[in-house]
Amino acid sequence: ASGSGAAIVDESVETTDGKHIEVAANIGQPAELDPAAQRGADGVGLYRTEFLFLDRETPPSEDEQYEAVREVLDTFPDGRVVVRTLDIGGDKRIPYLDLPAEENPFLGERGIRRSLDPDSDLFATQLRALLRAAADGAGDLAIMFPLVATVEELDGALDALDAAAADLEGRETEVADPEVGVMIETPSAVFMAEELAARVDFLSIGTNDLTQYVMAADRENERVGDLHDPTHPGVLRAIRQTVKSAHDEDAWVGMCGEMAGDPDLTELLVGLGLDELSMSAVTIPEVKTAVSETEHSAASERADRARLAATRSEVHDTLEL
Ligand code: PEP
Ligand code: MG
Repeated sequence: ASGSGAAIVDESVETTDGKHIEVAANIGQPAELDPAAQRGADGVGLYRTEFLFLDRETPPSEDEQYEAVREVLDTFPDGRVVVRTLDIGGDKRIPYLDLPAEENPFLGERGIRRSLDPDSDLFATQLRALLRAAADGAGDLAIMFPLVATVEELDGALDALDAAAADLEGRETEVADPEVGVMIETPSAVFMAEELAARVDFLSIGTNDLTQYVMAADRENERVGDLHDPTHPGVLRAIRQTVKSAHDEDAWVGMCGEMAGDPDLTELLVGLGLDELSMSAVTIPEVKTAVSETEHSAASERADRARLAATRSEVHDTLEL
């Protein structure tokens, strides 16, 4: 249902009853920055840093990473820019990082697991680059950790962030104190969302991976494509539980999986209580328009009915999809 005709909305948007929803861009390449700004992104809700490590033979230096993040912060001087730390493993491989051959890479060394060990030096370098860029860049940087499953992992990542700040202070480099967040992509993170949210400023739901793990359906396998669908009530309940846990701990909660960019689902997501939606730039104008046409209280009632449905087809009937 998504045409390309929606008008570009440069201002931030709210529902008809006044709830502000941040509409941000997912960025995987620097070339996507200007188009995202042109299509009215309020900021960047997911900056995937993997591209910095691709098509080369050695990892980028602290200075190269600093420059790349400065560029994003300067493109969105009035916005928030959420930079995700390196997320490799699973579907994302980098030849010189020597990933192990695993029988089930999606259930193996991925995301934060690798950053804590064996890539802790790379992680430290990246965190120093981010803290320096946050101090010098125009926009507001936030740092986000991928594929967290346990509180221990988050505590390890937060310790690494403190250590990076201490290193920079030792070098007498200016350090910022950015917002910190956790991606909710594993069922365990959903169940532990309250404890995770208590330790950080925000959660961001990665529905590409979360759907894969909640439904046990490979995100790349079309044979189970009907199961890899975030409108199954099981996934909607996971989203709602995450939102409630975040809000109970005074954290804001966003979504940066593909689901967030579907204008047909905007009313549902606003109704489930999300504060921010981040997507590839193409659908930003349509999603902003959809937010401005949604009444939050009516959307909440409908979202409750959708998530309490027994089947995906009942969800679709409720949402008139
Ligand atoms: C996700 O899993 O939903 C997500 C946004 O991360 P990626 O697609 O990069 O794994
Ligand atoms: Mg993911």
